Amino acid sequence: MNTSKTSYTPCPDCNGQGRVNRGLSKKARLRYQKALDAYTRSGAQGPAPAKPKAHLQPCSTCLASGLIPAEQPPVPDSDTYPHVAIIGAGIGGMALAVACLHRGIPFTVYERDLHFDSRSQGYGLTLQQAHTALKGFGIHELQDGVVSTRHIAHQPDGTVIGEWGMRKWDTGTHTTSKKTNIHIARQALRRALLDQLGDAHQIQWGHQLLEIKQTGDGAIQLDFQAAGNVKSASAHLVVGADGIRSTLRTMLLKPQLTPLRYLDCIVILGICDLQNLNHLKNPLLDSATVFQTADGTARMYMMPYDRDRVMWQFSFPIAEDEAKSLSAQGPEPLKKEVQRRTPWHEPIPEVISETDPAFISGYPVYDRELLTPEMTTNWGNCTLLGDAAHPMSPFKGQGANQALLDALALAKRITKGCNLSKSFKEINLRKKILSKFETEMLQRSALKVTASAKAAAVLHSEKVLQERDGPRGGGVQ
Ligand SMILES: Cc1cc2nc3c(=O)[nH]c(=O)nc-3n(C[C@H](O)[C@H](O)[C@H](O)COP(=O)(O)OP(=O)(O)OC[C@H]3O[C@@H](n4cnc5c(N)ncnc54)[C@H](O)[C@@H]3O)c2cc1C
Repeated sequence: MNTSKTSYTPCPDCNGQGRVNRGLSKKARLRYQKALDAYTRSGAQGPAPAKPKAHLQPCSTCLASGLIPAEQPPVPDSDTYPHVAIIGAGIGGMALAVACLHRGIPFTVYERDLHFDSRSQGYGLTLQQAHTALKGFGIHELQDGVVSTRHIAHQPDGTVIGEWGMRKWDTGTHTTSKKTNIHIARQALRRALLDQLGDAHQIQWGHQLLEIKQTGDGAIQLDFQAAGNVKSASAHLVVGADGIRSTLRTMLLKPQLTPLRYLDCIVILGICDLQNLNHLKNPLLDSATVFQTADGTARMYMMPYDRDRVMWQFSFPIAEDEAKSLSAQGPEPLKKEVQRRTPWHEPIPEVISETDPAFISGYPVYDRELLTPEMTTNWGNCTLLGDAAHPMSPFKGQGANQALLDALALAKRITKGCNLSKSFKEINLRKKILSKFETEMLQRSALKVTASAKAAAVLHSEKVLQERDGPRGGGVQ
C-alpha cells in the first residue's frame, strides 16, 4: 500500500464539492428567456416555465476530487459542523471517517470488533465506478490493486462461450488502469482508508452500539457495550454504517422493519496461493484474467485477489435452512461440497484442491426490500449508509462501490449544508442534509440492489449459457 501519507483540505474553489457551478450556458439562458416571454405574452396562463438548472462542471483546481494537498488536515470545526458518530468501521464507515477528516468535520467511529484484524475479513472486491471516487478520499493509487484485462466465460468442459475486456477489444496494448476494474482485498482497501486517517484515528474499537436516545439539548446519546460495561457517548449526527445486520437500522425502522430477504442461493468463497499451481502454467491464472464457468445451475467465478493469490466464489441454489446449516459446518465440508459439484475444466479442481481450508467460508445470500425516502422522515439526526441502508447480493460486485459513493456523498452534503457563517445548531440537519443525501443514495443504489437480485437468479439459470462476449447477469461478473 502507498505509505506516503499526504494531508488534504477542502478545495477553496469548489468548497470541497469537486464540481463548480459555472452558470447557465448562453443557449439555455436564451431558451428560458424565450419561454418566459411567451408565457408573459399569453397572460401567464398555466404553469410558468421552470428555470433550468446549471450543469455542474468538474473543478479544475482539484481535478474534481474536492481536495487539495495540505501540510496538515484541517482542524475539526465543531462550531460549523455537527459531531458525527459513525457506527461501524467497515468499508463505508472508514470511508466516511476519511471524508470527514479531510473536510474538517468532527467525527468518532465506533466499531464492535476489538481491533482492525479481529476476524477474517477475507474476500476480494472489484472497484468499478468507486475507483474514480477514491480521489475524493485522498487515495490516488491503490498499490495493492490488480487490474484485470480479460474476462472469459466457459462451459464446464472448458468450451469458451464469451470473452471480453481490454485484451480482446484493444489488442492487448492498453494497460492503463483508467476505466478498468480494480481487484483488491477488502482488508487492503480498509488499510488504505486507515492509513489516510493516520494519527487522527478516532476509532473506538470494541464498542458495540446498544441503544440511542435523544437528549434535551438536541444531541443524541449513544450507549455501547465496551469491555463488558455499558459506556455512553454523545453526538449531533449518527450514521449507521454497521452492515447488513445493522443495529441502528433496526432501531430506526421499528415498526416498519424490513427483514432480510433470502435470495435462494449460497456463496462459498476461497483464496488460493498461486505458487502451488505454477506447474499448471494455466493462462487463466495470470493475475490479470477473470473467468467464470457455469452449468446452468451452479457457477464458479475466479478473479485475482492480489498478485500472488486468486479468489474463487462458487454459488448454487439451495434452500435457506440447508444453506445456513452448510455454512455453519465450516471450511472442510464447504470445500468438499465445492469439489463434489465441480469436476470441471482445469484449473478449477486444482485451485479448489490447493486452497487452504483456513481461507474458505460460506454465506447464504440476502438483501432487503428497498427503503424509500418517506420511511426516513422520522429518523431525526440519524441516517444509514452502505449495507445498512441497501444490502445487495454480491453478484454485481456493487456493495462496497455503493458504500464508498454513499460516504463521499454524505460528507459533501454536510459541507454544503452547513454554513461557515453560522453554527450547525441553527440548521435543520434532517432537511438541509440528511433527506437530500438519502434521496440521492436510495435512488442510485436501488438500481444496483434490483440488478444484483436479478443477477442472483440469472447466473444460476440456463440463461448464463448463452454465447455472448459480455458480462453475464447484466453486470461486472
Ligand atoms: C462474498 C462477497 C463478495 C463481495 N464482492 C464485492 C465486490 O466485488 N465489489 C463490491 O463493491 N462489493 C462486494 N461485496 C459487498 C461488500 O463487501 C459490502 O457491500 C461492503 O463491505 C459494505 O460495506 P459496509 O461498510 O456497509 O458494511 P461492512 O463492511 O459489513 O461493515 C460493517 C461494520 O460494522 C460493524 N458493526 C456491526 N454492528 C455493529 C454495532 N452494533 N456496533 C458497532 N459496530 C458494528 C461490523 O463489525 C463491521 O465492521 C461482497 C460481499 C461479499 C459477502
